[in-house]
Order: sequence, then C-alpha cells, then structure tokens
Amino acid sequence: MTREHLIKPLLSAHYPKIDYGKGVFLYDEHGKAYLDASSGAVTAGIGHGVQEVIDAMLAQAQKVSFVYRSQFTSEPAERLAKRLSDLAPGHDYWSFFVNSGSEATETAMKIAIQYWQEQGRLGKNKVISRRMSYHGITLGALSMSGHVTRRRRFIPLLEELPIVAAPYCYRCPYQLSAASCGQSCADDLETNIKRIGADHIAAFIAEPIIGAAGGAVVPPAGYYERIKAICEQYDILFIADEVMTGIARTGTMFGMEHWGVEPDLIALGKGLSAGYTPIAATLVKDRVMEPILAGSQIVMSGHTFSANPQSAATALAVLDYIAARQLVDAAEEKGRYLRQKLERIAANRAIIGDVRGKGLLLGLEFVADRASKRIFPVSLGVTTRLVERAQSKGLLVYPAAGGVDGEGDAVIVAPPLVITTEEIDL
Ligand code: PLP
Repeated sequence: MTREHLIKPLLSAHYPKIDYGKGVFLYDEHGKAYLDASSGAVTAGIGHGVQEVIDAMLAQAQKVSFVYRSQFTSEPAERLAKRLSDLAPGHDYWSFFVNSGSEATETAMKIAIQYWQEQGRLGKNKVISRRMSYHGITLGALSMSGHVTRRRRFIPLLEELPIVAAPYCYRCPYQLSAASCGQSCADDLETNIKRIGADHIAAFIAEPIIGAAGGAVVPPAGYYERIKAICEQYDILFIADEVMTGIARTGTMFGMEHWGVEPDLIALGKGLSAGYTPIAATLVKDRVMEPILAGSQIVMSGHTFSANPQSAATALAVLDYIAARQLVDAAEEKGRYLRQKLERIAANRAIIGDVRGKGLLLGLEFVADRASKRIFPVSLGVTTRLVERAQSKGLLVYPAAGGVDGEGDAVIVAPPLVITTEEIDL
C-alpha cells in the first residue's frame, strides 16, 4: 500500500480532484462537470461560487477573522445569534456556535443534562433517540445515533443502541396503513420512557425528517405534535436535530415548522453556511437557559473556533442570500417539480420502492421486489454501486441507509435550492 498524504474516508478509493464549482455544478481537474444533486452532504444549499457570499467573506477577513470567544464577542456573531432567534419557531432562542453538526447535537445533549442538574435533578442524564437516526460522528453524538454501521467499531464507548421506533411509514413497524395509523410509533416514546424511567431521561432527540439513516423519511401527520406532548407530560426536553433539515431545505426555514412544534433545543449545521465555512449552532429556548442563568451561569461547552467572526459573517451572507432569492419558497416549489419527475422515473423502474421527502430533501428507496418490499442482499452493495455509477456519469446523489437496521438501500436527492427547472430536467 502506498502512503497517501491526504487521508480519505475510503483509503483505497480514487476520488476525482475538484477544481472549482459554479451554481449546481462542480468541475474536476479534467473539466468534467458533476451536477451536484446532493449539495455534497446536503450542505451546499445556495450552490457553489456565489459572489455575494465571497464578497462578504473578503470584507470580514479584511476586518478580523478570529477572536477568542472567552475574550471577545463580535458584531457578526451577535447579529447571527439574533437572526437565528428571529427565524426559529417561537423566536426566543440563545445560540451556541460550534463547527459541525456533531458538535451541535452534542452541545444540545450537554445543555439538556445541565438544565436538569441546575434544578437538582442529577439523575436525568440520558438523551434517548430513535432506532433510525444519525446525530453525528463524535462519541456523544454517535451514542445518540442508531446508525449501525457508523457505531459498530466504537460500541464499547457508546450508550446502548437507541430503540424508540422510527416513524417509517414505508415499512411501518406496526404494519399499519395511512388510514389506520394512530401514531403508534410516537407512543413507543412513552413506552420507552416508562421502561427507562423519566427520572433518568434529560431529553429526546429526533431529526424532523430522517436523513442518512433512512433517506428522507417523513413521519405521519400528527406525529410530532404527539411527541412534544409526551415530552411535556414526562418532563423531558425535546431536541430537534435540524442539521440536515434546517435553513430552508424542506420548504420551511426549519423542518419542525411543518408540524408547528417548538423544540426546546435545535441543532443546526450544514446549510447554515451552505459549505462556505464550517459553522454550526445549538439554539436553546429562553426557558431552558433560565435555570442555568439563575444557577452556575456557565455552559461547560465550547470550542476554540466557536463564534469566530469570519464564519458568522459567512453564515449571515448565506441567510441574506436565501432571503433575497426567496429560497424557502423555491425549495417547496422546485421540490414539488423534482418529486414529480422522480415519481415518473419510479413508475417504470421496478427497483424504486419509494419516493419520499419534503421540499428539496427527497429520497429514493431501492428494493429487489416492489410488491413485497424485499431488500437486496447487503453483499450486492447496491447503494454504493449506484452512487458510484451516478458519479461516473456526472451526477452526485447521497448514499443513505434504507430499512430499519440500515440493511436496505436508499439515496438522498437534495440539490442546491437555486436549481432551475431546466437543471432538474437534466
Ligand atoms: N445530524 C444530522 C441530522 C446529520 O445529517 C449530520 C450529518 O450528516 C450530523 C448531525 C453531523 O453533522 P457533521 O457531519 O457536520 O458533524
């Protein structure tokens, strides 16, 4: 084996070398174009090479790029915190800035535990989650994740595998239909709270629409309303992991708006900077901050780069661009168009079992047999081969795990929100 100077996730792979990007396209060193139909990892929400963002980045760099969060605040960081609070459901959130979605969910976990500690309820220190979930790759975030393949190597370091049922209507864990659905999967949260004991649980975390661990899985009507009611009944905080769904992706600014639910904490990442810089955030409701402010007044979480003015200014420029181009509405409208096209393709492709999602966060699940929904043998590596084949033909889609235990095949189709109908046709 030769030594690589650049560590790649799959050491044996030969990744194309990207030269530049413009709009929904990336171009490699040989000039080959790739239609970025996944926005990378559902990240490049406004497309590549946006001049307004580049100008804002340059302007901030000419002032100051970095100040340390324990010594200074900065105008862009304060403005970004205010903007996110104004945009979020209920409009009363504090922001803790971090650098990745994993840090955002892990910070949410820590603040949820601290919320109870400050009130003397020291036993409430578990954050529970669903079987089909991905909340990040750092150990705290991975502990909350049910993504089997990403956990496997680190099981001794993790909490037990999350087991709350997922709202996976295509393979309903209760064999119910849309007509007979009574949100039994939401009631499974209550069953698990009773099993573990509410006195041991600080919070429940869920992705509004399941991403990497399911392929854009949307819950049934009424699901999140029921989840929130159960959390309130048992004194458990509700964390919405909006790392993938947040910032206009699903046709609303926050995914949870589809269900009119105000989470106690929200994790944001990916689309917040649309990939122009690493920045993520944990939003915390005023009422969750109250006991902390009345108590220790310290949140023992933060990173060297947290709230740096360069990243904050970049995220502000992205939010300005989204507002100026009305990309929340565009996600809804273009999402509807793309979905119709995908459904038309699915109609005469027997291996596409399901087309799902909201806005421009869409998923396709692949099956060996459509009638029985039988999955392909894992050994065939269908998702990997499909994603690689698409990439070789100049189309980027994001691999997801299909099936309850990640044993199935799915991809996410989530192009930048600026995509045109002509580009969707292509
Ligand atoms: N949460 C969700 C819902 C995600 O989709 C991801 C990444 O895919 C993460 C958290 C982790 O984010 P990051 O990869 O930026 O650490």
